[in-house]
Amino acid sequence: MPPDASATNITALRPMDILRAIDAAIEEHGNWLTRWHRALVCELPPERDVIAENSADLTAFGRWHDQHRRDPLLAQIAFQDLWQEYSALHDAARSVARLATTRPVSAQDYDGVVAKSDAFLTRARRIRDAFRKAVSDLDPLTGLSNRTTMNAELAAEYERAVRTDTPCCIALADIDHFKKVNDTYGHGIGDQVLAATAGRFLSQLRPYDLIYRYGGEEFLLCLPNADPKTAAVVLGRLRMALFERAIPLEDNTDLSVSASFGFAQIIGSAPLKEIIAQADQALYQAKQAGRNCVIGFTKDVTHDA
Ligand code: GH3
Ligand code: MG
Ligand code: MG
Repeated sequence: MPPDASATNITALRPMDILRAIDAAIEEHGNWLTRWHRALVCELPPERDVIAENSADLTAFGRWHDQHRRDPLLAQIAFQDLWQEYSALHDAARSVARLATTRPVSAQDYDGVVAKSDAFLTRARRIRDAFRKAVSDLDPLTGLSNRTTMNAELAAEYERAVRTDTPCCIALADIDHFKKVNDTYGHGIGDQVLAATAGRFLSQLRPYDLIYRYGGEEFLLCLPNADPKTAAVVLGRLRMALFERAIPLEDNTDLSVSASFGFAQIIGSAPLKEIIAQADQALYQAKQAGRNCVIGFTKDVTHDA
């Protein structure tokens, strides 16, 4: 999100937003430090943003931080420490830049700024590496977990459902006529629709439901403690959440889309792979039935493609 976005547009930060922001902050800091050095070495008047009282707030990173300061991810101690280091660095750099206009800078003052810069960069890289690890399991477009995570989590849910003999359904959702969205409006709009669809689905799920990006415009859901009747209700809610309100696009237009859903219940006698295949058969039926609907697998659902 650009730093000047209006307050009403502020959305909760995802780990990948933090990752991008820190990457950008490290890059920006390198350029900023070069400008600070240049003024010092070439005995030029310091640049105004460098000696401004609130110099840390004036950088892109500072504006981003200010905009998101209430976000739970930024409230973490590690991030607060990073911001403190950033502010301390700017304070020290400002006072040295101001002093340099009247007298030579002492080695001690110069070393102080360099040490603060190093401390900021070290901490920024450490936080970035931690977030990078978290983000590597996420699909960058939708922010949902990818298939690697899915395989491990589904195996655990399958085992739990069979062991405790509690119902659990696996569902596949597929956006209807998505190729047409890409063909008509372009791939960029297609990407926006995909990301917004994931957001709509997420907003309707129960806290313990799981959702993954399964393929291009397909999502896989795992609904623990849901028998087929409950699964149909949960998925019906997802279907409506997508269909009843057009998706607002970045260019202020909007686009109506729908999705089809197929699901199957986990049963101990069938391996997970087969349950997913059954959900896929039901999804196929949903497409055949005219799309924008939810269909559960039953033994008589046949796949005659
Ligand atoms: P149906 O209703 O039968 O599902 O039709 P469909 O057009 O949605 O299905 P089809 O499988 O023909 O097309 C899927 C399209 O999804 C084709 C592919 O280019 C597009 N797609 C896959 N991944 C992405 C992506 O990450 N971004 C965008 N923009 N498009 C994608
Ligand atoms: Mg598809
Ligand atoms: Mg599709």
